[in-house]
Order: sequence, then C-alpha cells, then structure tokens
Amino acid sequence: MSLLKRLKKKVAKAINKVAEKVSNTIEEAGNNISDAANDLGDTVARNVPIIGPAVGTAVRWMGRVSSGICDLAATAVKGAGAVLTGVTDLIIGGIGGLITGDWGLVKESLIGFIENTIGGILILGGGFISLIQTIFGAQHRKTKLNKTEINILRLVFRESLDTKNICIIKGRSGSGVYRFTDRPFTMGNIIYMKDTDPADWNKTLVHEGVHVWQYQHTGSRYSADALGAQFILGKDRSYQWWKEPTPWTEFNAEAQGKFFEHMYEGGELQQPNGSWARGDGCFFRGDAMTLNQFRFSDFEEDPWVGNADHPLQEYTQLGNETTDYVRNQPSER
Ligand SMILES: [Zn+2]
Repeated sequence: MSLLKRLKKKVAKAINKVAEKVSNTIEEAGNNISDAANDLGDTVARNVPIIGPAVGTAVRWMGRVSSGICDLAATAVKGAGAVLTGVTDLIIGGIGGLITGDWGLVKESLIGFIENTIGGILILGGGFISLIQTIFGAQHRKTKLNKTEINILRLVFRESLDTKNICIIKGRSGSGVYRFTDRPFTMGNIIYMKDTDPADWNKTLVHEGVHVWQYQHTGSRYSADALGAQFILGKDRSYQWWKEPTPWTEFNAEAQGKFFEHMYEGGELQQPNGSWARGDGCFFRGDAMTLNQFRFSDFEEDPWVGNADHPLQEYTQLGNETTDYVRNQPSER
C-alpha cells in the first residue's frame, strides 16, 4: 500500500474515532433521559389522580423528543466527520495522487469524497426525519434490543459492535415516511425492521447489524455506498456478494450485509457425532476445536444444496477470514 493511501486511511480512522466517541456520548445521554422520562411518566400516570395519565403521556413524549434531538446531534457529529474525511480524502489522495501520478489513488479518493459527503448528508437528513416523526408521533417508539437479540449480535460480532445504543423500530406502518419500502433498513444506530417475519428476524438483524457495524467503524459513508450500489448495480445485483471482488472489505455495503446474513442462515457447524448442523448462526461458533463450513450456490430455491447447473461453492475460508477481520476491529465507543 502506498504511503499516501496509508496516511489517508489513518486520518479517516482518527476522525471516525473522535466522531464515534462524541456521538456515542450524546446518544447515550438522550437514551438515559428517555428512560428516566418513561419511568417518571409511568409513576405520574399511576399516582396522580385525574390528570395523571395525560401528564404521564406528555412526560414520556418529552423524553422521546429529547432523545430524538440527541440522536440528531449525534448524526450531525458523525456527518461532519464524514465530510471532513471526504475533504482529507480529496486533499491527501486526490491532489497527492495527481502529483505522484497514482491514478488508482485519485479514483479511490474521489469516490471516497463523494461517498463520505453524500453519506454525511443522508445520515443527517435521516436523523432529522426521525426527529420530526417522533415529535408528531408518526413513527413507533424505538425499543432497545432484547437479550436474545444482543446475544445474536454478540455471537457474530463479539466486542467489535457496541450494542448499547442500537435501537429497533418495528412495523412498516410505524416507520413514517420510510414506509414507502417494505425492506428493513438501518439509519446509524436505529434499525427499521418493518414487518419482518419472525422466522426471518434473526438473520435480518444480523444483516442490519452489519450496517450498524459499518456506521460505527467507517462512518456515514456506508449509507451512500449501499444506496449507490443499489442504484448503479441494480437492486438484486447489489446483494450478490459472490459476484463481488474479494476480500470482503472490497464488497459493496449491501453485499457485505448479505454475506453475513447468508453465513448466519446457511453456515454449518460439525457436531460431536460428525454430522453437520446448519443455520441459526452456528457457523459463528466454529473455532480451532470445532470445524465450521460455509458452502453456497446461486441456486435461489436452495442455495445450501444447489443443483447440477448451480453447484455448491466453498466459501469457508472467506467466511472465517472475514469474521476474524470484523471481530478484530475494536469498538471506538
Ligand atoms: Zn442492507
């Protein structure tokens, strides 16, 4: 890797580190206010006669709005970090690449500049919409992850993902203007699960968890990368990770998510009697003592078995290397 490229990466990492720390503190303060307001609202509603329930509702609403304001401030910090990263990309990589004649670096830096800038704007805009919808009660209350959900994300990401401030908004009808699509999506640390079927809940959580991971580790640019991939490559192709250049870090943001979703759904783990169990994230329990494998075919009807025209391909090594890489990125929160 060239010196300029390394420098560019170092600066981007340093900026995101600061942005993560600051935005995390703000988000957490908002969530704490919201929790306290909820408790207070409940107490008032129960104990104050006649006007209690109305006052309690108002107190809870104020808590939610305070949290929404903090979330917006947090996305502004991350968004500003993304724009700053984009500008340094342009200066170090763009101008530096021009001077040294490194055209690959110039191209990469231009893409970085565009993705970071658009990503910063998208995340900030998303935070603003979320706040407005909270004020007018147009979106369902965000809820914290339950124990099972935390355990699933822990199993896959270990300590590399900070789960404390990850929230879920359930229901397509409760997602406000975002109801235009039935696809779940992630805006920073908030996952809009829409009407995800209970049977698909866990693997979808893992997919969206990858987007939160991207947000926490690379900043707002993931949102522009994901949208850009869907726009440029087409909706279906953007998810087809097996057509992407390896390693996983070179996948587009949607393919990165789908890869983990598929590993969760179809990865296997060898049992003590030698047979293989599949699914429910058992792949991620593989270690030096217990073998795992991940084989996949682009035969849509049964990707874990394939057929004559679409034989199974071996992705175990890519799966394990990627999982190691992801887990080894320390959380900056
Ligand atoms: Zn996705």
